[in-house]
Amino acid sequence: MNVLVTNIGELLTLAPLAKEKRANRVTSGDLGIVKNAWLLVKDGKVESYGTGAAPDVPHGAVLADAHGGLVMPGLVDCHTHPVFGGNRAKEFCMRLEGATYQEIAAAGGGIKNSTTATRAASEDELVAGTLTRLNTFLRHGVTTVEAKSGYGLSVESELKQLRVLRAAAKKTPQHLTVTCLALHAVPPEHKSAASWAHEAAEKLLPVVAREKLADCVDAFVEAGYFSVADARPYLDAAKKTGLRIRLHADEFSESGAASLAAEYGAESADHLQFASDAGIKAMAAKGVCAVLLPGTSIYSNIPYTNARKFIDAGCAVAVATDFNPGSCVADNLPMIATIAALHCKLKPAEAIAGVTFAAAYGLRLHDRKGAIHHGFDADFLIQPMRTHEEWLADLGRNEPSQVWIKGQRVT
Ligand SMILES: [Zn+2]
Repeated sequence: MNVLVTNIGELLTLAPLAKEKRANRVTSGDLGIVKNAWLLVKDGKVESYGTGAAPDVPHGAVLADAHGGLVMPGLVDCHTHPVFGGNRAKEFCMRLEGATYQEIAAAGGGIKNSTTATRAASEDELVAGTLTRLNTFLRHGVTTVEAKSGYGLSVESELKQLRVLRAAAKKTPQHLTVTCLALHAVPPEHKSAASWAHEAAEKLLPVVAREKLADCVDAFVEAGYFSVADARPYLDAAKKTGLRIRLHADEFSESGAASLAAEYGAESADHLQFASDAGIKAMAAKGVCAVLLPGTSIYSNIPYTNARKFIDAGCAVAVATDFNPGSCVADNLPMIATIAALHCKLKPAEAIAGVTFAAAYGLRLHDRKGAIHHGFDADFLIQPMRTHEEWLADLGRNEPSQVWIKGQRVT
């Protein structure tokens, strides 16, 4: 199907980045802004765009009027945990009473609480819950989602969560990248992180790879969770079976996770508040995307990641929600982009690229997602506001009036 979008006040393309396949060192010129624009979509892909008078409407094309508003690429949320049973609102209130993340975990709460509820839930219940959450992301303009398991924490329950994600991917218009986060916490059945990491490496990842249940693996490399040494056999198994790697890295303390991400050629390292200078340098050298998750800083009252250190080193920097039932019950990626700009020291173009092209790079989808560029998937948003400045300045009220994925209107 062909689509012609007319009457675009500001078309935000990020095409300079797409053209150069570059997600780092983003400047305002990289936004690729075209004023008074039109956009032509052919067979679900971006065909062309321009300024001034729109071309003749191709035969059979659908016309969309942007009413002078902003049109921008569909957003990419490159770090979410949307499959879980139950909820942890009670723990939220415990935190308000003064308990820390670690204290809640020690009292049997935290990830373990979600594990109990997730293991008890049926696949159908989990698919329904996941689809509801994906639909909320969609209403905020998120057209591509990275979604992790990690609340099963047994071979069988992790496989169940991954099957849920593959089933949800078939029922949502969004593109899903599925990640096996087996090393999220030490399961109650295991005495040590190392023993679960070995079991996941030997018994889980070969099945995940063989049945194509995930694209990537992830591990929570952090003091009190999984050390660099614990994670190695699991990451080795991932490499051997062709699963790509991303890491939860250095969120509460420096644990060597940023360097580990570089060593294993991870696509991204996420959180990174306490990443070492050597780790940051290694990430830049290996093209590891730094993913900022400022929502967890709000919920857990921990420092924000200073994006400047990563940008100055030459890393691509993305921004994601880290939506999950405990440490960040926030699913509004545009709002998180504004918070990242305010607190992680991002410039406007960096914040916008962080939830579009740089986030697509973080998932290695930057050959088709995250920009409005010839041949890219026609994933775009028609916004009620007129400029990207208005979009970024608005904290949490910037829902698009229309969402299009691969040239089809989905909201
Ligand atoms: Zn996370």
